[in-house]
Amino acid sequence: MPAVNAGSKVVAIDGPAGSGKSTVARAVAARLRTDYLDTGAMYRAVAFMAMRSGVDPEDAEPVARLARAMTLEVADRVMVNGVDATIEIRSPEVTRAVSAVAANPEVRAELGRRMREWALERSGGVVEGRDIGTVVFPGAPLKVYLTASDEERAQRRSQEMLDMHYDEVAADIARRDHVDSTRAHAPLAVADDAVVVDTTTRNVDQVVELVLELAAKAGLG
Ligand code: C5P
Repeated sequence: MPAVNAGSKVVAIDGPAGSGKSTVARAVAARLRTDYLDTGAMYRAVAFMAMRSGVDPEDAEPVARLARAMTLEVADRVMVNGVDATIEIRSPEVTRAVSAVAANPEVRAELGRRMREWALERSGGVVEGRDIGTVVFPGAPLKVYLTASDEERAQRRSQEMLDMHYDEVAADIARRDHVDSTRAHAPLAVADDAVVVDTTTRNVDQVVELVLELAAKAGLG
């Protein structure tokens, strides 16, 4: 099955907003001398493109068509149809629209296919998101699920989103947690074989070292 082949050297990192996934995934990839893929940025890119094209993010079929047709490059910069959207995909407007886009099964199928292609091209990598260990790479040799308390996650995000108040950020995270965990297709969930790591009282270096130990045990790195 291509999904299993593509994932045979993937480190899958899942978890809710503000759990530290991106920071940890980037650092782990650097230490393993491999690439890192932020799959949230891919969903955000589709939401960005829909808004820019005047398509309602809730309108399933046109949004799916956009997702299938767009060129998308997610690395240090996020390039959507040749436009640098690195900054715009983090805007509060895109953040509000992204959950609807991510609940669209055809968008998920298209982006999942692109994620597996990405991993096949590199024979592995560190991939972070919501359904990486459960759906996209069910055969990944290491699955980590990062969590942190609601307050800690909101605190971290409000330090990044300087133009938003803590209360707004906390409410936004709670709304996305709810939508992401209750949607019908590929909801945020802990894979049966995932290692759950609570990052509330651990710093980034401690979490990175822990994931690297787990990767070594799993025969990666
Ligand atoms: O990680 P980030 O907060 O940037 O993700 C944005 C949104 O993309 C999430 O709230 C979720 O709705 C969606 N997402 C997803 N599956 C993934 C990654 C992100 O549904 N693998």
